[in-house]
Amino acid sequence: MINASLKELSAALAAKQLSSVELAGLFLDRIERLNPLLNAFITVDRERSLAMAREADARIARGESGPLTGIPVAHKDIFCAEGWLTSCGSKMLSNFVSPYDATVIERFKAAGTVTLGKTNMDEFAMGSSNETSFYGPVKNPWDTAAVPGGSSGGSAAAVSARLTPAATGTDTGGSIRQPAALCGLTGLKPTYGVVSRWGMIAFASSLDQGGPMAKSAEDCALLLNAMAGFDERDSTSLERPAEDYARDLDKPLAGLRIGLPKEFFAEGLSADVAQAVEAAIAEYRRLGAVAVNISLPNMKLSVPAYYVIAPAEASSNLSRFDGVRYGWRAPQYGDLADMYCKSRAQGFGAEVKRRILIGTYVLSHGYYDAYYLQAQRIRRLIAADFAEAFKSCDLIMGPTSPSVAFGLGAKAGDPVQMYLSDIYTIAINLAGLPGMSIPCGTGARNLPVGLQIIGDYFGEARMLNAAHQYQLATDWHRRAPAL
Ligand code: GLN
Repeated sequence: MINASLKELSAALAAKQLSSVELAGLFLDRIERLNPLLNAFITVDRERSLAMAREADARIARGESGPLTGIPVAHKDIFCAEGWLTSCGSKMLSNFVSPYDATVIERFKAAGTVTLGKTNMDEFAMGSSNETSFYGPVKNPWDTAAVPGGSSGGSAAAVSARLTPAATGTDTGGSIRQPAALCGLTGLKPTYGVVSRWGMIAFASSLDQGGPMAKSAEDCALLLNAMAGFDERDSTSLERPAEDYARDLDKPLAGLRIGLPKEFFAEGLSADVAQAVEAAIAEYRRLGAVAVNISLPNMKLSVPAYYVIAPAEASSNLSRFDGVRYGWRAPQYGDLADMYCKSRAQGFGAEVKRRILIGTYVLSHGYYDAYYLQAQRIRRLIAADFAEAFKSCDLIMGPTSPSVAFGLGAKAGDPVQMYLSDIYTIAINLAGLPGMSIPCGTGARNLPVGLQIIGDYFGEARMLNAAHQYQLATDWHRRAPAL
């Protein structure tokens, strides 16, 4: 059961081979046994989960179930969920029990899924290794001395260790795709605006996007069907007709044009990752696709531009955490200004403070033109590079991460090295494009390697089609760590 696809789980529930309560119990027992080792969950609430499972069972008995009814899903602790501690991995929100549901949570509830718990993450989603969490680092289930990636590292570790069949994540610069790659999963970041950000704690609003993390492309398609859709409460949500993201899964790939950007296969890419990615491209050729050489000339500017834009937006978004209405308040302080200062000094960790400082600096009078405006211009150039590239290909492929999972602590003291972990993922967020990562082999220390698939705007169904066809022909996505 722990390795079953969502479709198989749904069929087993419909056939009454097992109940949703039993299924949730199975995963809750695994969480109880393995979470002390992995630290993938911040909050687990057995009674609350089982109550949801009982409701799902009643729905199935009434014949009112959909494709996800009764299926357990874990949610990144960035999504506000009514009655659940919603910490965002920070001391600042370590006492915040959300009074409302994010749209994503609401949609999963409407689909009848069972919340298994809230997963660990880098503090306010800032990081690539899950080491900035106030709740301690998450361990990679393939090698507990290695990081799971970040910032959705708890969700990635939880799915990889089969503590949950599926999870949600968010991706501002790679936080779904990079941990999916490092933990051997399939993860998808939709086109900006496809999934509502309402109730998803904001990091960098023009880049943040929620998406699914699961074992396969087929599972991700079903999850995205539940997550996506217009939401009038999010002013950047796109009003488009509903799509079935599973509609093209079975299409053959003959004639598919895959763009290979030369910048993705240059200096900085580990040989083991390059080898696995090249083998995956060869498999796509066998499936009938044709490879096209392309170039994204401004790609090298994506990391510096991101580290101006994302901190700028974060410094503004995080100003709401002032110790007044909710969240951490310093136990002792003098006047009001002192209360703000002490609460923020105590509530935020080092990486969050670094981003607030950088963001405030680049937005300040005198530096705005030199940094922020320049970064916005680069952002435009990067989007134009992709538009040009998609004239000659249908999808773009390359590595998700320059290396396999690195050791815990290996980059924690060197922010620039850490920032470079997202060198292949960040440009996609700057352009607002959809991207995903699928397992495509193993590299050093037998750890998983991820293949990144990038689509044109609203190319989710096409990306999922390519991923699914690859997964029908290979079994990398079926491998699970021995735990
Ligand atoms: N690692 C990047 C950062 O630290 C991206 C994080 C994310 O996508 N949330 O900002």
